[in-house]
Amino acid sequence: MTTQETIELYNKFVIANYTRLPKVIVKGEGCYIYDADGNKILDMFPGWAVSGIGHCHPKVVKAITEQSKKLLHIDNTFYSEPQGLLAKLLSDRSFGGKCFFCNSGAEANEAALKLARLYTAKEKYKFITCEGSFHGRTFATVSATAQPKYHEGFLPLLPGFIYVPFNDIKALESAFSDEVAAVLVEPIQGEGGINVASAEYMSAIRRLCDENGAMMILDEVQTGIGRTGKWFAYQHYEVEPDMITMAKTLGGGTAIGAMAAKAEIAEVLKPGKHASTFGGNPLACAAGIAVIEAIEQEGLLKNAEDLGNYTKEKLEQLKAKHNIIDHVRGIGLMIGIQLKGPGAKIVDKCLEKGLRINCTHDTVLRFMPPMTVTKEQIDTAIEILDSVLSEA
Ligand SMILES: *Cc1c(COP(=O)(O)O)cnc(C)c1O
Repeated sequence: MTTQETIELYNKFVIANYTRLPKVIVKGEGCYIYDADGNKILDMFPGWAVSGIGHCHPKVVKAITEQSKKLLHIDNTFYSEPQGLLAKLLSDRSFGGKCFFCNSGAEANEAALKLARLYTAKEKYKFITCEGSFHGRTFATVSATAQPKYHEGFLPLLPGFIYVPFNDIKALESAFSDEVAAVLVEPIQGEGGINVASAEYMSAIRRLCDENGAMMILDEVQTGIGRTGKWFAYQHYEVEPDMITMAKTLGGGTAIGAMAAKAEIAEVLKPGKHASTFGGNPLACAAGIAVIEAIEQEGLLKNAEDLGNYTKEKLEQLKAKHNIIDHVRGIGLMIGIQLKGPGAKIVDKCLEKGLRINCTHDTVLRFMPPMTVTKEQIDTAIEILDSVLSEA
């Protein structure tokens, strides 16, 4: 089919709830995607961070090929080895808790919110979340997402959510009460524009949760599984959360979500309390295991840290050259370029020249290359961005 024929299918049969670029992608390999017209695109925002170790990573492809010959799906009435193994790998790399598996980031957050309600006292039903956050599109997670633009048309939302400014300890203190079941926060806000939580803020969340018998839930759907140079972003801080949620990079391109909770908390999630039909299926779990093994065998945590620093250095040089760049922020390969004006046109121009990046919150360019990225690929991306900024 031609690009136009595919687009026409969408126009007739696919609900138009996304703004799409007029390109049909037919292939992905490492840091590149290819469109139906034969163009090769350097992808510095692979699958919105889902393809965090690159498109079609050979170890993931091999694992799901082998698994697909044995068992694609088995319901949670039974046990299957990949789910148990993946849970152990995640537990060993975080705080030694237990995992619940689902299929997306929103579902992982739903599970965490429900578990917090179950575990804490009955009168606790409130959740504190931060302005600029993004937690998903289901009713509970969109209620948790403290950005009015995501709420339009859906009021009234789920009750009990309290929104506070990010990184503001005073505001957090005054929002707290003994009715709060949990604080849900991203260690680095992704959609919100790569806003990094301060060490003091993370410690304050921990302290206030402890003082009030509330759960500290970290949404690591975007930050998790190595992108920041550590398995989880909270490991850059001196705190341990009660629960973390993850998805995106975890599946290596397959649909998976997970919520990990400390064992004594996880205890209350008994049969009948929560479930997911597809959750923890052998195919997705085999992919998750392969992702973790690839990160370890290929030293990708170190690469994310090193190449993250390298990218930031290069971007600082661009900043010295282009007045439109206000500053650069982020950890590892989760990098935001704060512009002084809108970034959408810059993103479009980069794509025309074969580079895919993203713009969030109108004025923040997001650079989140696969953890397998090389210096040469970063150099090429910077060159293209440089030329686009020069023309702007
Ligand atoms: C993408 C994202 C989600 C939602 O994940 P879905 O898989 O789209 O449901 C939740 N939280 C954060 C931080 C995200 O980046």
